[in-house]
Amino acid sequence: MKPTGYFTHKACWRHEMGRGHPECPERLDAIEDRLLITGVGDALERREATPAALADLELGHDRMHLAALRGLSDNLRDDRQAGGPDHAAIDPDTCINEHTWDAALMAAGAAIDATDAVMAGELENAFCAVRPPGHHATRSKAMGFCFFNNVAVAAKYALARHGLKRVAIVDFDVHHGNGTEDIVAGDERILMCSFYQHPFYPYPEGEWSHAPNLVNLPVPAYTRGMDIRELVEMMWMPRLDAFKPQMLFVSAGFDAHREDDLGQLGLVEQDYAWLTQRIKDVARRHAKGRIVSCLEGGYHLSALARSVEAHLRVLAEV
Ligand SMILES: [Zn+2]
Repeated sequence: MKPTGYFTHKACWRHEMGRGHPECPERLDAIEDRLLITGVGDALERREATPAALADLELGHDRMHLAALRGLSDNLRDDRQAGGPDHAAIDPDTCINEHTWDAALMAAGAAIDATDAVMAGELENAFCAVRPPGHHATRSKAMGFCFFNNVAVAAKYALARHGLKRVAIVDFDVHHGNGTEDIVAGDERILMCSFYQHPFYPYPEGEWSHAPNLVNLPVPAYTRGMDIRELVEMMWMPRLDAFKPQMLFVSAGFDAHREDDLGQLGLVEQDYAWLTQRIKDVARRHAKGRIVSCLEGGYHLSALARSVEAHLRVLAEV
């Protein structure tokens, strides 16, 4: 087996949204520490991400969205030099500092680089330990700690630049990947499978999308891992097998862990290992094993680190 890639970049640590914000650089430290202590990191091929090209970001986002974020970032930098604040707010949960633009480019760039390396056959599969996360970022809007939709951009990139005809996105974050849905709904080249706590953030404005390429499994608070597994087996697997994706992208959020206070689902490390194995089974059957997984949520530092370890142990077979 070829190695599992581990993509990250120092810029992903420099983005921060203020003291006490749960989406903090320490999340990546916790993951790195865990991989070091357990030795799992030794089994991975570590690669430094490069920034996403604007032309590639435009596969998933409006040009205006990119320009607006760039403008906000430039203004913040100018204001700071004149003694202004460290952050500029986008919504009550989401703000930028002077490093956010670069971090967001690296996070999306990691997903793209991982796609290239997996498609080239250099890596069996890959995990992107990046922040900011992406799955709430819509075609035209940053929200919910997210600026660019790393997974949706990479999925569109695989279709546009590598000539794939069908790719799947699997999202197991506790929150609904509304941004990904906004970008991929109705695109028959992409099958999106997700479960998420409902009702919960990001409480949809208006109608749910009923596009046929979406397999949405809203579940109530306090649903446990065993029930999630049963739903995944019944609802995701037949659709994934019928679709026969040529590559799989994972929105790997770990905030459905039962120790994570940002959500109220009851998953544990073994559930993440099980989910990863099922994703891997589909990839083996249809996609030459090709998987690119990107970090989304996960805010209890210890549970996050243990869950990423479980995810990577299955991806890398260690
Ligand atoms: Zn989340």
